[in-house]
Amino acid sequence: MTAPLRLRLDGQALTDNWRALARMSGPAACGAAIKADGYGLGAVGVAIRLADAGCRDFFVATWAEAAALAPLNLPVSVLHGVRAEDMDVALSGIARPVLNSAVQVARWKAAGGGACDVMIDTGMNRLGLSVDELALLEELQIETLMSHLACADEDHALNQRQLAAFAGLARRSSARRLSLANSAGIGLGADYAFDLTRPGLALYGGIPRAAFAGAITQVVTPQAQVLQRRRVAAGATVGYNATWTAPRDTDVAILNLGYADGYWRGFSDAGSGEGGRFPVIGRVSMDLVALDVSGRALSEGDWVALDYALPDAARKSGMSQYELLTGLGSRFDRYWI
Ligand SMILES: *Cc1c(COP(=O)(O)O)cnc(C)c1O
Repeated sequence: MTAPLRLRLDGQALTDNWRALARMSGPAACGAAIKADGYGLGAVGVAIRLADAGCRDFFVATWAEAAALAPLNLPVSVLHGVRAEDMDVALSGIARPVLNSAVQVARWKAAGGGACDVMIDTGMNRLGLSVDELALLEELQIETLMSHLACADEDHALNQRQLAAFAGLARRSSARRLSLANSAGIGLGADYAFDLTRPGLALYGGIPRAAFAGAITQVVTPQAQVLQRRRVAAGATVGYNATWTAPRDTDVAILNLGYADGYWRGFSDAGSGEGGRFPVIGRVSMDLVALDVSGRALSEGDWVALDYALPDAARKSGMSQYELLTGLGSRFDRYWI
């Protein structure tokens, strides 16, 4: 069975992006955040390709995500740490937990868990132990001590403050490695790289800071099949709520793609296909979208590539580059070239 919508995934672009980020990371190792099913691309396909390229540090959010990768036998860290419910699978050794709280540290110590990672909160106030709780870490076998930047995609005073806080506690820790930078953090400068960087977004073609623009290439292209081609007479409308009125007789292609696939409603009257040649007209529906294909040879059954360069698509849709990736749904056939 084949689906009428597919995601074209460029494996060369993915590994080129990782190599570019590894170079930008200087002497630090470069890992990969592959949570949320590899940001929507498919975590197993991403991990296989990055491991072949030399990546040795993978980050997921949950133990279910780690279990999905277990057959690949790669070094995986679980960013959300260990709940009581996770202890059996965590102690099975398929991945390391990133311990985030005093409760998680106590739980891991009590179970005699082995190597772990630890997240320190240096100002984001999301997950992590506070810098005052370092004493709790005694006796832990810490592979990577990490923190996470809240504003790395902007020039914000918090970046410097988090860097200083992290550098300060680094000297007081027995961890084998230190890690602070996500994709955007790699662009903040060599000081932020420490021993290991943890890019996600930029691996998949996201541009978190202007400086990445020349270095990162697009990985993901949604493609959808034309279900019907129709002539819409001047003055008639297209789609829900009749938001688009034909200014002249218009040839319209209806594609099998909609907001349930992550092609968000923000693309209504804003998205396009084939390098701008086919503008989206009217509302994006749950499973369908209409394109103006006047004067173009395009028939029922033909495939259209949607314009999905992430910074541009984000501007047009009003969604973040992250949402544009992680929203890509399960109805796509994913194929790597
Ligand atoms: C998601 C995540 C990353 C990767 O962030 P990007 O902005 O996608 O590069 C790195 N570290 C942690 C802790 C994360 O949660």
